[in-house]
Amino acid sequence: MPDELDCIFCQIVGGQAPATFLYEDEKVVVFMDVNPATDGHCLVVSREHAPTIFELPEGTLESVAGVSKKVAHALREALTPDGLNLIQANGPAAFQTVDHFHVHLVPRWAGDPIKLPWIPSPGDPDRIAEVAQKVRDQLPD
Ligand code: AMP
Ligand code: ZN
Repeated sequence: MPDELDCIFCQIVGGQAPATFLYEDEKVVVFMDVNPATDGHCLVVSREHAPTIFELPEGTLESVAGVSKKVAHALREALTPDGLNLIQANGPAAFQTVDHFHVHLVPRWAGDPIKLPWIPSPGDPDRIAEVAQKVRDQLPD
């Protein structure tokens, strides 16, 4: 069975599963998360099925980014949060649970219970530089 048929977000995009929609255009749909981390938590989703950023068609990330900005402004106007997180997961190791590309918009309030998944502490500068060089070597000129 193709991944798309088994994909809850494809079913929502295709109208076969319910969702509370905020916005849609030819490349992107936005609907409320059914398990909201905070009030207003919503998902900016590519209309086309792509599991992660690595399979996303050329140009779709730009469309998702543009819509994210538009909806972020609407969330700020509607809910006056103190802040807003954009969260995007690729692969189970990165906490992805739905294999269809999406960006979470999570309005934040001072004192809300949401926590970072790691405790920041200073890194080893040599290791940081070594890893940076490895990545730079893979970037196109
Ligand atoms: P992620 O862990 O980044 O893949 O996030 C997937 C998100 O999709 C979770 O926050 C879920 O609560 C949300 N989700 C799963 N199924 C649905 C659904 N049917 N409608 C709306 N949101 C959903
Ligand atoms: Zn899908």
